[in-house]
Amino acid sequence: MALKEPATAVIRMGEGTTADALSFIGSRRACAVCDTNTQKFAEEYFPALPRFVFPDGWKATDVNAAHLIDQIKSDGIELLVAVGTGTIHDLTRYSAFHAGVDFISYPTAPSMDGFVSSIAAMTIKGQKITYPAKPPVALFAEPAVYQTSPMRLTLAGMGDILGKYISVFDWKVAEAVAGEKVDEDLVKLETDAIDKMLSIDPASPDFHTAVLEGLVMTGMTIQYFGSSRPASGAEHHLSHIWEMHVINEDVEALHGEKVGVSTLIILRLYKSLLDKHIIFRPKDNNVEYLRTAYGDMAEGIAAENTPNPMANITQEKLDAAAPRIRQLIRGLPDPDKLEAFMKSIGAKTEIAQLGLPADPEFLAKTLEFAPYVRRRITLLKLL
Ligand SMILES: [Zn+2]
Repeated sequence: MALKEPATAVIRMGEGTTADALSFIGSRRACAVCDTNTQKFAEEYFPALPRFVFPDGWKATDVNAAHLIDQIKSDGIELLVAVGTGTIHDLTRYSAFHAGVDFISYPTAPSMDGFVSSIAAMTIKGQKITYPAKPPVALFAEPAVYQTSPMRLTLAGMGDILGKYISVFDWKVAEAVAGEKVDEDLVKLETDAIDKMLSIDPASPDFHTAVLEGLVMTGMTIQYFGSSRPASGAEHHLSHIWEMHVINEDVEALHGEKVGVSTLIILRLYKSLLDKHIIFRPKDNNVEYLRTAYGDMAEGIAAENTPNPMANITQEKLDAAAPRIRQLIRGLPDPDKLEAFMKSIGAKTEIAQLGLPADPEFLAKTLEFAPYVRRRITLLKLL
């Protein structure tokens, strides 16, 4: 399969990488974008750059980004340096896109898989909406910076990488049932990222590096492929519906923590199908039905699912693919073992730990409606 030319052409990780970042910036008029937590890294590693510091508690909203866009224009800034994690990257990516300038990613913690993403997740009028934006032109990751991050952030990043078990599985199910083309090179990048991360002692500094490398590489599979198909399956759809705050309140939990917990939920569900006849249930894109979960966003969700990606799928096709699906289910890791490992290093494993309702009705509603967040075939969407 022909892979796309990545927009993030320069990726450097390792001690002393900041020097490469400085020579990449060269004489361009650049500005470091940070928050009150990451300001110290901007001051220490990019002392000559002016800084745009987002105040404590600021979210990635269009209103907040407008302040940065104003400064880019008034100061003639040509290049932004995102010194931070998710929110800083979303704000920078969105602002750079709207101001027509480039940006560099400078991660301060291995917390999520969106450093090299082209999508900005913004909160507009209280709802999380993803916008097309631009990926960084380069990423520089300095171990002395990201290895000092709190373990909670690294464990969240680990959850985001573990989710690739499901993303890859769902992609292969879509191949078996609907003839989607799976790129084995990209699958290998993802499985290598998981294996490498799990081979390293979580107490060692190298663990932070393996998690960050895994996040960057799995993020790059999206650029190579041209959509998030390789790196986002049912596990991300669960975290996305929770992040849209349509069936729950906003929670403190980090994206990767949600993905880690949803990975266990989906693993258990998929494993339970091993000895069952998998029944195909066509999805209903009826707006009034979708409104029961998505409220005001129902029209947008119905549009997202049109044309219906399941239109050509039948029970016969699913039955014909069932032996392959069973083989894939057998290849998934044992959820009990994975959960025990996650618990042993302090990662979140239960829905209640995310601050979400622990009742079975909430989980059922999540599983019923999450597949609509993207126009994409997953085994969960077929059920
Ligand atoms: Zn993710």
